[in-house]
Amino acid sequence: MQHDIWKFIGLVLVAALFGYTVGHVLLCMLLACLGIIAWQIYRLDTLYKWVENSKHNPMPEVSGQLYNVYRSINRTNAKNAKRKRQLSAYLTEFRKAVGALPDAIILIDDNGKIEWANKNANKVLGIRWPEDNNVRFGDLIRYPEVNALLKQANSKKGSPNQGVVVTSMSNNEQVISFKCVRYTNKLRMIIARDVSRLIKVNQMHSDFVANVSHELKTPLTVLKGYVEILSDNPELPATFVKPIEQMKVQSVRMELIVGDLLYLAKLEDTANIKPNEQVDITNLVNTIIEAVQPLIEEKRHTLELDIDYSLTLAGAQTELHSAFSNLITNAINYTPANGVIHIRWKSSPEAAIFSVTDNGFGVAAQHLERLTQRFYRVDNDRSREGGGTGLGLAIVKHVLQRHNADLEIISEEGEGSTFKCVFPIDQDAQTLNSIDAAS
Ligand code: ADP
Repeated sequence: MQHDIWKFIGLVLVAALFGYTVGHVLLCMLLACLGIIAWQIYRLDTLYKWVENSKHNPMPEVSGQLYNVYRSINRTNAKNAKRKRQLSAYLTEFRKAVGALPDAIILIDDNGKIEWANKNANKVLGIRWPEDNNVRFGDLIRYPEVNALLKQANSKKGSPNQGVVVTSMSNNEQVISFKCVRYTNKLRMIIARDVSRLIKVNQMHSDFVANVSHELKTPLTVLKGYVEILSDNPELPATFVKPIEQMKVQSVRMELIVGDLLYLAKLEDTANIKPNEQVDITNLVNTIIEAVQPLIEEKRHTLELDIDYSLTLAGAQTELHSAFSNLITNAINYTPANGVIHIRWKSSPEAAIFSVTDNGFGVAAQHLERLTQRFYRVDNDRSREGGGTGLGLAIVKHVLQRHNADLEIISEEGEGSTFKCVFPIDQDAQTLNSIDAAS
């Protein structure tokens, strides 16, 4: 900067000296200033043209402060170019990684038009990239469930959605799972996966369990019958009394387990059939309470009821009986003597809720997520003492799934638990889909 100022002063002084010799000092100084301004304007214009096209033009020969400006721009350009190269390398790597995924990944904009798709989108859904660029996703994939899923991802920004599983329209054997997440403000990412094999393996697994349970049923009935005859025999030698009694208890337990396994298999077999009898829940709860009354008396529990008698539910009576009775029996079994058990059946604008609350042993937080898995027990001995099979909550979960309902568990170790069956009221249709107020 100093160099430029001295240069300016020098030039003006030379002009003044020259003016002095010709007798026009001020005029010569003015002309010198104008000349310097014109020169600077020219240099600025050159700088602008170079900045506009700095990638292809070499840096012009300049001096003074302007040289520093050129160098600084040059440095920033070099940094930007390096960052751009890096980003483009990252993008290429990202696309390669996404391309290698076995899932179909499709990016769509807010109008549902395809912005990008990976290779597997063609394999799983028949969407080709770049041929299908800008085509509406809904025009290529016409499943109502998937459309509803996309609408959901539209309205709930950033929130993950549950996803849907559909059977391919062109191939009955192919089952595809769809998920959709909001990717940026303008883009949504659809992840589709062919889950046919997984479904088949699950089906084989369920069939195997169902077949084994079925095969065990008859021999077990025979064994149980003989054990009962033996235990009723007054001539049974004393040494056999205890073992036969144990065999009797265990055969009853096995029969219960086989019965529950078969019931679960039946629920899974008919998973797509939506039950729709009008179920009088008040009546159902009364029947269950009558059946468990001896247990309640034995443990001297207090039972509190908070029932909306006018509420009925569209569902399957026997299944709901099984689910609610499992929850009530659990509350009785997992609450020490003199406990309080509260049964509620109420509705709100969003849902009808059946809940069972106890002040029993409760469940520590780390077990809650796994409670509905088959044979998962927090305390094996306690479960066996209460005659549990370890399948009760799995049955509850399946029954609720078939009723489009959710199981919510709130529990604290040593404090007690609440098991809530939440039956949502169909908000979209603005009708009480599953719930009716009986007149
Ligand atoms: P089980 O036949 O063993 O009762 P469930 O599937 O009904 O099987 O329940 C699984 C486990 O969840 C039980 O073994 C028990 O540890 C726990 N559990 C269920 N209900 C309750 C409850 N009301 N209070 C405390 N623990 C419970």
